[in-house]
Amino acid sequence: MVKKEELQMSRSPTIHSRKYSPSKSSTWLNCPLSTLLNDGSNQETNPQAEFGTQCHELGAALISQSLNLIDYDSEVKPIEEVIKDLDMYSEEMQEIADGYADFVIQTIEFEKKRTDTEPLIVIEQHLDMDFDDDAGGTLDCGIISSLDGGTLTVIDLKTGRTPVYAFDNESGLFNSQLGIYALYFYKAYKDLYPIKKVRLVIYQPVINNTNNYEMPIEELLQFESNVLIPAVKRTKVENPEAHPGKYCRYCAGKAICAKRAEANKLVMQALKKPVTTMTDADIEALLPHLDEVFQYAKDVMEFAIKKALNGHKWSKYKLVHNKGSRKITDEEGVIKACEQVGIDPYGPKKVAGITELTKRIGKSKVDGLIGAYINMQLGSLVLVPKSDPREEANIIEEGDK
Ligand code: SF4
Repeated sequence: MVKKEELQMSRSPTIHSRKYSPSKSSTWLNCPLSTLLNDGSNQETNPQAEFGTQCHELGAALISQSLNLIDYDSEVKPIEEVIKDLDMYSEEMQEIADGYADFVIQTIEFEKKRTDTEPLIVIEQHLDMDFDDDAGGTLDCGIISSLDGGTLTVIDLKTGRTPVYAFDNESGLFNSQLGIYALYFYKAYKDLYPIKKVRLVIYQPVINNTNNYEMPIEELLQFESNVLIPAVKRTKVENPEAHPGKYCRYCAGKAICAKRAEANKLVMQALKKPVTTMTDADIEALLPHLDEVFQYAKDVMEFAIKKALNGHKWSKYKLVHNKGSRKITDEEGVIKACEQVGIDPYGPKKVAGITELTKRIGKSKVDGLIGAYINMQLGSLVLVPKSDPREEANIIEEGDK
């Protein structure tokens, strides 16, 4: 049993820095100008982000209840009360939060068994960061145990479907968001607990993606002195430079940044070479840039449409309605009219999808009841860089067909 007095919990409301948000660190560590554009004036919330925030709230409440954690900032509410305040609450949210809470509790139990001592645990802890007054963020879960002479673990719950990795094979760097949380969690407790090893853990249940990266504490401190502090300094000069990259899509200036426009124009200019057909080498040189070109086009188009919807007149473009479609406005009237002349007004009955059936049957009973009638279909093929961790698909070679 975990001793109550040795555990800590902070449930301060989730406050993120505007310019130096750890979740946007891949942008501002690489592009100094982005900190001027990400000043918070353009922050938008979307339903997915709100769903994620509420999953975190429920997960944190489940963990604190299960471990009997102390909340120094506010009264701990019963789970039913927490759920009442979640306007996006659903069975899916409950599943994600339950899975996350189980994962955190199992991790703690594992560390306790291997050390025989009580770990320090923090959940939803706000961390101030000393490199700027605006810098700070909320750590999902942090654990410090005496494992291997002192192990600091940060666990980050991801609720989106884009895979997130604790270590990026392409860049050869660990996830900077988790690295920054680990660094400031370390700084907050280093005088109280010896720490030799750091573990960054991504828990992403919606796509079964749990992965981690381990490093000695020295590697994290080198990140601070060689990457973090120099990057912050570059943002504080009079005219910060712009360095476009694949992170531009997360920047508030994504649609209006001249440097990003220039970088994408350069890629497209490569297509204007006076050749009739492109070689495999030409195409391979272009492939790594196409994601960003598509994303850039999408960002600019969304920006232009949003402005037009707000009343702005573009000099050479206008808003029009797409082709409309007919819609039944009174179903009862249609049913009555058809039945009066002996016509069946109903469409074909269809079996519900697997997600809906899982909701109706219950996750634990689905396999037993209908598992024999379900198989796994391979997803559509996508072309990704060789560094992608997924296994290569088996395709008939050109010439063997
Ligand atoms: S759009 Fe890209 S290049 Fe421009 S400021 Fe943002 S991150 Fe930097």
